Amino acid sequence: MSDEKRDISRRKFLKLSGCAAILVPAAIIATDRAMAQGKASKDSVKYQDSPKDGQKCKDCQFFTEPNACQVVEGEISPEGWCNLYVKKQ
Ligand code: SF4
Repeated sequence: MSDEKRDISRRKFLKLSGCAAILVPAAIIATDRAMAQGKASKDSVKYQDSPKDGQKCKDCQFFTEPNACQVVEGEISPEGWCNLYVKKQ
């Protein structure tokens, strides 16, 4: 490999490393924030605003009136669903 090509590869590597150095901490901060609240993000639990197979948030043991969840962050719909669903006893 010529010195010129090696220099370009090194520059590319350093550029990509710089991007990763910025993006990885941002992802860690976002995850830490969600974990600090003790709740999962909607994306991580595949939350949707509609029921699934007859299961909906208002019938889940984690649902809190009028539109919150004990384990998923943010506002949720009573008609929503996520993969942490547990039927209310
Ligand atoms: S289904 Fe998911 S989002 Fe809805 S109340 Fe249960 S745990 Fe929360």
